[in-house]
Amino acid sequence: DAVVHWFKMDLRTHDNRALSLASEKAKDAGVPLIGLYVVSPQDFEAHLTAPVRVDFVMRTLQVLKHDLAKLNVPLHVETVEKRKEIPKRILEFLDEWGANHMFANMEYEVDELRREAKMVHLCAERGIAFEVVHDTCVVPPGALQSGSGKQYSVYSPWFRAWLAHIHTNPDLLTLFKAPPTFSPAARAKVAVLFDCEMPQVPESKRLSEEDAQRLHAFWPAGEHEAMDRLEKFCQEKIGKYHQRRNVPSEAGTSSLSVHLATGTLSARTAVLYARNRNKVKKLDAGIEGVQTWISEVAWRDFYKHVLVNWPYVCMNKPFKPEYSNITWSYNASHFAAWSQGRTGFPVIDAAMRQMAHMGWMHNRCRMIVASFLAKDLLIDWRMGERFFMENLIDGDFASNNGGWGFSASVGVDPQPYFRIFNPLLQSEKFDPNGEYIKKWIPELKGMTNKEVHDPYGRGAGAKARKAGYPERIVEHKDARARALAVYKEGLERD
Ligand code: FAD
Repeated sequence: DAVVHWFKMDLRTHDNRALSLASEKAKDAGVPLIGLYVVSPQDFEAHLTAPVRVDFVMRTLQVLKHDLAKLNVPLHVETVEKRKEIPKRILEFLDEWGANHMFANMEYEVDELRREAKMVHLCAERGIAFEVVHDTCVVPPGALQSGSGKQYSVYSPWFRAWLAHIHTNPDLLTLFKAPPTFSPAARAKVAVLFDCEMPQVPESKRLSEEDAQRLHAFWPAGEHEAMDRLEKFCQEKIGKYHQRRNVPSEAGTSSLSVHLATGTLSARTAVLYARNRNKVKKLDAGIEGVQTWISEVAWRDFYKHVLVNWPYVCMNKPFKPEYSNITWSYNASHFAAWSQGRTGFPVIDAAMRQMAHMGWMHNRCRMIVASFLAKDLLIDWRMGERFFMENLIDGDFASNNGGWGFSASVGVDPQPYFRIFNPLLQSEKFDPNGEYIKKWIPELKGMTNKEVHDPYGRGAGAKARKAGYPERIVEHKDARARALAVYKEGLERD
């Protein structure tokens, strides 16, 4: 006999709802608890998971295996080559260990939900209880409705409802207990599982030695690292977050997205720690930086709610169906210039080079480069969405899809399409001294504060050319006019 917890994107022992329930169940029944994680190369392909992200997950699993072993709980990690075989393999595993109870936290993407629903049926047919619970959002999807019973599609009223819901249900911020230590006798029953080798990363997702070294230094894995980052951020930076969060040259944000996306940190813990730093119970009172940060963590919940309420966003469709008819450009050389950071727009190129180097990009820059691709280059935003997933360490379907929809004006942003970012103005506003640009584009180090944002337009063309920095691939003014016309035409066409 045993109880199994199926880990997915919840790779932590603390404040993990399903794991906590599983460990209670196992303790009460006097049986061992087993952790299971399935490596699915086909899911990595289907979800375009970036090698840097796969690597982070694998490193996290090592830490988790070690932490669980200290509690006498094994973590069995196994590769299942064909994703349609996953349910069958899990059932076999449950059978091998005589487990009649399994727990998991719910994932809301369409493929994952379908798989879970199927597993619930298959388990029930065999008399196995499979409990799938809400965990990843602070407020579970479905909990918030407008006065007229509708789901919110606009962030601000949704956020007010989110705050009110937590204030009336303070238990939503009660953390779940980590599993207790299991007895040596329980350990002995599942002893062979402790010695299992960790599977290899599929070849197509492996990092080169050089990339691995650099990226491991940026992104140490595991829940302890996540907690350290959270505590340090709450002590040192959160107070100024509202002022510094839009300055890409500074480390003014938490860099916790990879941990929230991998589940090495729960959103509940993040919000609770921030609130405790504030020393007031309400989430929308007290220190401004704390309030702002909590409202950003809430965006993550928001996009997951959107995904659940409008699942067609998982199927390559824009949230606003009326934007389905835009005539996108598929200009390969423009896309290559954008993705390789050589558009001739320094702020765009710096941001794309930051992502290539770190697997992460500052939020302000994500908005600028996304708007540039969809509006200035009129390239299908879904190509940008894919490219981000293929390169980000924190790639998360809901947040990425939401961010791209928002930036391309086809998503939940109530603003109309004619709000088009001017990359030059964005650059001057958020990187006035060009520090961010110079960090990522060494060719532009010798430019003055004025030249650095637009060397060819500001009389520094010869210098830029000599340094090997490319000329602009489009003129913003013309590109803007073209975008307005093409969006309008797409909207008017049936
Ligand atoms: P902080 O500013 O410290 O924020 C704390 C946490 O709140 C973040 O870690 C994140 O979990 C959440 N958060 C903050 N802003 C947002 C937001 N706008 N939407 C959703 N969650 C948010 N975030 C991802 O986690 N994965 C993605 O794949 C992703 N793709 C994006 C694509 C585009 C086009 C845009 C505009 C944004 C995207 N974001 C994505 C949101 C945001 O850029 C990152 O979460 C943020 O930059 C991460 O840095 P941080 O942890 O220092 O954030």
